[in-house]
Amino acid sequence: MNRYLSKNELHDYGAGSGNTADQAHALLLQQKETWPMLRNGAATLDSVVSREIDFGHFSMKVQFNPGRIVSSSAKVDKKSIAERRCFLCEENLPPEQKGLKSGDYSILCNPFPIFPEHFTIPHTAHIDQRISGAFAAMLELTREMGTRYSLFYNGPKCGASAPDHLHFQAGTFGFMQIDTTWEHLVEHYGSWLVHEPGTRIAAVDDTLRRFLVIESDDAGRCENEFARIFEAFGAFNEHPGEEPMVNIVTSFRDGRWRAMVFLRRKHRPEQFFAEGEEQILFSPASVDFGGVCITPLERDFNRMNRELLTDMFSQLSVQRDVLDAVAQAVRAT
Ligand SMILES: [Zn+2]
Repeated sequence: MNRYLSKNELHDYGAGSGNTADQAHALLLQQKETWPMLRNGAATLDSVVSREIDFGHFSMKVQFNPGRIVSSSAKVDKKSIAERRCFLCEENLPPEQKGLKSGDYSILCNPFPIFPEHFTIPHTAHIDQRISGAFAAMLELTREMGTRYSLFYNGPKCGASAPDHLHFQAGTFGFMQIDTTWEHLVEHYGSWLVHEPGTRIAAVDDTLRRFLVIESDDAGRCENEFARIFEAFGAFNEHPGEEPMVNIVTSFRDGRWRAMVFLRRKHRPEQFFAEGEEQILFSPASVDFGGVCITPLERDFNRMNRELLTDMFSQLSVQRDVLDAVAQAVRAT
């Protein structure tokens, strides 16, 4: 069975040139036609409800998306992971699922979408979810996916539902507010650590999220700056042997990469583990940190408000002194 769509098949669904973004869009059209599970997932997305919560100079969107119940409540402990069949390994993909090949990665449609167009991009080999060693590939994929999509990475301990299989995801650019509002956030809640003609780096604390932004026209520089941030943050890692907890959102526009690195200290808020009425099924990862909070239960959707989000994000983001120390390390070089 051929897993990857041919040029002719892609052409039939509107992909003209060799452009990866066009091919990904064509893949999605093909999959909606031939793969019922994906078609159903996409239809579910048409009926999701969302609303905005105002935080002064920014807002957070809350999306009620019942299709995400599996992901939000996923067991990601070592035992559960070892006992399940990896859903990102090629031999376990449903027969209808087709993909695109890009270097060592496959671009696949996500059958439980959050975005109007949502892709999962696993490595072709079953290797651990780790960003060091894979960040350069993430930047290259981000460039290939063009201006139509943003990419994101969820650390193995903060949102990846397959912590044992290296993967990124891609979604429609602009769906996460952070894609278009990050400069505004820097202006109101952050400071520039580096401000040069080709490269800018900022640290932001907007009361919910503590993150760094790297913007550069040079992929190598992005990589070096990311490595510096990751190393400085690693000094605060409370789990030896584990990757420091980060969610990363990247995009490529006007010849520049942007990488937003959210520094985390916890995967799920205490409300997630509460019993009965007190429980809130909120398991945030890149998309939530990017401004779209996903709630698979209507009850949780209805009670989300400014106080609750502030409380939960504060539990998950690093303390201010950690952000300051990482910022200082970036400034010092
Ligand atoms: Zn796998």
